[in-house]
Amino acid sequence: MLKHALSAMALVLAAGTALAQDQVVNLYSARHYNTDEALYTGFTKATGIKINRVDADDAGIIARLKAEGTASPADVILLVDAARLYRGEADGLFQPIRSKLLEDAIPANLRAQPTADGGIPWFGFSTRARVIVYDKTSIKKGDVDTYEKLASPQLKGKICIRSGSHPYNLSLFGAVTEHMGETRAEEWLRGVNANLARPPKGGDTDQIKAVASGECAVGVTNSYYLARLIRSSNPEDRKVAERVGVVFPNQDSWGTHLNIAGGAVAKHAKNRDNAIKLLEYLASPEAQNYFANGNNEWPAAKGVQFNNPALTAMSGGPFKSETIPIGAVGAHQLKVQQMLDRVGFQ
Ligand code: FE
Repeated sequence: MLKHALSAMALVLAAGTALAQDQVVNLYSARHYNTDEALYTGFTKATGIKINRVDADDAGIIARLKAEGTASPADVILLVDAARLYRGEADGLFQPIRSKLLEDAIPANLRAQPTADGGIPWFGFSTRARVIVYDKTSIKKGDVDTYEKLASPQLKGKICIRSGSHPYNLSLFGAVTEHMGETRAEEWLRGVNANLARPPKGGDTDQIKAVASGECAVGVTNSYYLARLIRSSNPEDRKVAERVGVVFPNQDSWGTHLNIAGGAVAKHAKNRDNAIKLLEYLASPEAQNYFANGNNEWPAAKGVQFNNPALTAMSGGPFKSETIPIGAVGAHQLKVQQMLDRVGFQ
């Protein structure tokens, strides 16, 4: 009797251990936002699945996945920017999935095009706008209220922007190419390049600071970098944010360019079900609010209520954003790089 009880207990323990071992998901994340911690604890709390996380930059993650091949422990991959997600898909690093929950939650233009059998290679989970900032003392909002105007001769020697080859700009320029066509887009790039105040350098925050300091009159940045300055505990940062005007371009035409941060199930995922659960969690209202409040991004999922005063302060409320498929934007990146080379845009 005792022997039976003990072996039953051993069985229960063994099952418990097996269960505990099974309940993991290995995440490779390129999200460089320390506020994401709440996302991951939220998932473990909701599902009991533990996350083993590897943080690296996008290039590091892609190199690692390629080096690991079929032996890769990665289950979920999070990358920032459509250009990088598109590359990951093109390099065969993702496993297309079917999930009714994700297909219902994430709008079709914020995820990859389905494959022939209907699987979706990756999903966007948060959006960021690529906005124009300007020196309120020398520039009128109407002078910079479209991306097209960045090429206007009136802005000669006034624009600061990070490298044209950075994925954030490859995606913006890819979107412009989608909207204007290749010939006009290249002319536009030539015009923007002719208007630069200095050779491209630094990150987006550096461009905002350069506008605030008067080094240039116009800059281009992802929205969350400006929101971060608005919400900063450092008064110097807040002063920078106060000094610049911000415009969400193309409200009267195709809308402001939106980019995404997104994720995918890894090609060789061993914990595939848990991987899908993690992606589904990222589309939940709770996780979407972490995106909105933590990194000052807009939720990608439909109908999520959120409250972030810095986002409202920047945009003044709802704004018109472009509706082209984000996958098409990524697909233009090689073409865009060739155009940049031809016009001498660094
Ligand atoms: Fe960033």
